[in-house]
Amino acid sequence: VHAEPKPAPLDASKVTVTLAETLKEVPPPEDLVFGKHMSDHMMVSTYHPVTGWSDPEIKPYGPFMLDPVSSCFQYSTNLFEGMKAYIGVDGKPRLFRPELNMKRMERSLGRVALPSFDTNELLKLIQKLVHVESRWIPNLNGYSLYVRPTLIGTRASLGVAASDHALLYVVCSPTGPYFRTSRMLSLMAVSEHVRSWPGGTGGYKLSGNYAPTFMPQKEAAKKGYDQVLWLIGETITEAGAMNFFVVLQREDGDLDVYTPPTDGTILPGVTRDTVIALMKAHGSKTNLPEIPSTQKIHIYEESITVSQVAQWASEGRLLEAFTVGTAVVVASVGRIGVEGKEDIQLPQHESSMGPVALSLFEKITSIQEGREQYEDWSLV
Ligand code: PMP
Repeated sequence: VHAEPKPAPLDASKVTVTLAETLKEVPPPEDLVFGKHMSDHMMVSTYHPVTGWSDPEIKPYGPFMLDPVSSCFQYSTNLFEGMKAYIGVDGKPRLFRPELNMKRMERSLGRVALPSFDTNELLKLIQKLVHVESRWIPNLNGYSLYVRPTLIGTRASLGVAASDHALLYVVCSPTGPYFRTSRMLSLMAVSEHVRSWPGGTGGYKLSGNYAPTFMPQKEAAKKGYDQVLWLIGETITEAGAMNFFVVLQREDGDLDVYTPPTDGTILPGVTRDTVIALMKAHGSKTNLPEIPSTQKIHIYEESITVSQVAQWASEGRLLEAFTVGTAVVVASVGRIGVEGKEDIQLPQHESSMGPVALSLFEKITSIQEGREQYEDWSLV
């Protein structure tokens, strides 16, 4: 009598590497529009309920062949992560706080009941892939290799049930500054369509959260706004696929900063967490450039409404609003459109960034690009 063999765990030590015979030409930096070019290789492992995770492969980038009734096509059992690899001043690729992406991916896969794996093993595979693709990382400020780990359900059946088969893969795309405009962002507040709701999936990075945002985004663009400011009723949740912050002047000279709480209706962003940590550390553990260390930043993870923001703007207390995310890092908001009302106008800045946004941008990119060490935020 022998026990049934257990499904194999994802094991980075079993990776095989097959290099592409011909390598693509890396486009010049000015051509690096977000997500347009993919690198030469990808990492792939598949899950079968009996045998478990296959030996991971790093192999030439290319298409998959999947059954037309695969769970991912029919029931959106899809999720992903977004993170960046930078070339440090030491010439080595480095990832920024990747454990947070791994934890978020684990939460996402749990929410759609996809097969799980040890995310430390995935992280090792990502490091290996990034190492193989390091020639794709432009050694220029603001440039990086965007890494897109993806998990999809591949159960080939129309039965409405969790997918017990899966495909895990990682692809990479070289990228430069995300918004190629020198202006501040304009946002259109939208409450008619919501991207999240209490008890919904807005707090997870599921692919299914994104498709319903494209129509409202197109409408906002038609009306001349860059991104949607997502609301639930009057309450602000996020802006586009970014987290949202406002900065208020206090009478004692300090700053009050508000950002919506992670109550399940916003994605818990890695950049959001980073911004909050740096603001809390300002004047003690570290300093934000160009902001006096004596000027304290008081950060509140509390719900804010568009009316409050309009009120603060009319009182002249609203110094800045900005959005944060892996792709943009930090982008300042210049105006916010509200249905039936005049746009909320924010102070304009020649550099297209408010002082706090610019300071955070400088600090974060300097840590990401290895010009500055902070905590254990860089994995080399
Ligand atoms: N909100 C949404 C909806 C997003 O898709 C993203 C990008 N992942 C963010 C916020 C920002 O998260 P992060 O800082 O981890 O990129």
